[in-house]
Amino acid sequence: MSLIVHKYGGTSMGSTERIKNVARRVAKWHAAGHQMVVVPSAMSGETNRLIALAKEIQEQPDPRELDAIASTGEQVSVGLLAMALKSLGVDAVSYAGWQVPIRTDSAFTKARIESIDDARVRADLAAGKVVIITGFQGIDPHGNVTTLGRGGSDTSAVAVAAAMKAAECLIYTDVDGVYTTDPRIVEDARRLKVVSFEEMLEMASLGSKVLQIRSVEFAGKYRVPTRVLSSLTDPLMSLEEEMVSGTLITFEEAENMEQAVVSGIAFNRDEAKVTVRGVPDRPGIAYSILGKIADANIDVDMIIQNQGSDGTTDFSFTVHRNELAKTLDVLNTQVKPAVGAREVIGDAKVCKVSIVGIGMRSHVGIASLMFKTLSEEGINIQMISTSEIKVSVILEDKYMELAVRALHRAFGLEKAA
Ligand code: ADP
Ligand code: ASP
Ligand code: MG
Repeated sequence: MSLIVHKYGGTSMGSTERIKNVARRVAKWHAAGHQMVVVPSAMSGETNRLIALAKEIQEQPDPRELDAIASTGEQVSVGLLAMALKSLGVDAVSYAGWQVPIRTDSAFTKARIESIDDARVRADLAAGKVVIITGFQGIDPHGNVTTLGRGGSDTSAVAVAAAMKAAECLIYTDVDGVYTTDPRIVEDARRLKVVSFEEMLEMASLGSKVLQIRSVEFAGKYRVPTRVLSSLTDPLMSLEEEMVSGTLITFEEAENMEQAVVSGIAFNRDEAKVTVRGVPDRPGIAYSILGKIADANIDVDMIIQNQGSDGTTDFSFTVHRNELAKTLDVLNTQVKPAVGAREVIGDAKVCKVSIVGIGMRSHVGIASLMFKTLSEEGINIQMISTSEIKVSVILEDKYMELAVRALHRAFGLEKAA
């Protein structure tokens, strides 16, 4: 008998029929003798609906109230799932984040989990109940409800699994695993049977939304055996069959038998580029610009400072597209007059495309194959950044799908014919 955590995403919880299927699957695991904790997301579309409602009232919603609203989708889900389990004769109890409690910091809309009290959950499990805990939400030190950022239920599930030392965390979603790239963009993307923790971390941070990055961080920090698999299969299939399906995140490099140089391609449409033109080319300029951006709590991704020519230079960086307006405001009001820059330009029509693979550590020529492939497609590269196991480029966003498909082909990632 093991303690198992299941997470079900929005599509998996998308209708009462699907919720009944989730209940059937959970009941099957429970009947096999496992202690079950289940972390569902809101029904698909629900979180978007709630956020849109908030924005009808306040264009820039008050963060505390936005979390109070956005967190309710998961509360409906846990109640419905508990009822569905009871209908099958399985004793179940639902909890909101604050009832566990799942403690977070106070960063509304992007809170971080700080600790999870497992006493109440353990008592219920010992009494033979299935425990259902809301994804996506927690409670801050002042008793406010917080949310963990979009896609945050993944993080709730892995954090619960870590806190409870679960034997496995199974992330059920609407695809049957982690693919070489988003199968919605590249039809012949291939499912990876295993993916190393480091590659998964890069892919999540570079935009593959199959797992929220913090869930991967938790999995790595606490070595939680985590598998991504489909909720759309027959809920009564054998446990043995389920446990070899999907994609397992591995922590040992040797376990990664596929050994491709490039394992996956990630992309992110949420980028925006800003350029500060004609700044004086002298020490301290990067700090004068980025210090103000950091003070405004804006995350910066890629940075480029060009070589100066006439004593001035251009300074470009990327931010999340949602923060472009705020970034331009800081640059125009605080930075431009202070450093004497010529102009500030914002560009929301960019995207980031990245290739990821631990094989890059031991192979040369990977970046150049990427650049060659993009040049053959006539795609201009605006910015480049590299690390040990990834190369990212910023492109005009209309080329995103073309770039992803061409790179997928160039690195031989497609399914065997
Ligand atoms: P859930 O609601 O279950 O959390 P998400 O929509 O958040 O599901 O994540 C699953 C989606 O992630 C898939 O439908 C797929 O389009 C997308 N995705 C992006 N990159 C990948 C990838 N490399 N492998 C699999 N799915 C991916
Ligand atoms: N319901 C939340 C969202 O849509 C959390 C999640 O689905 O993981 O972002
Ligand atoms: Mg998700």
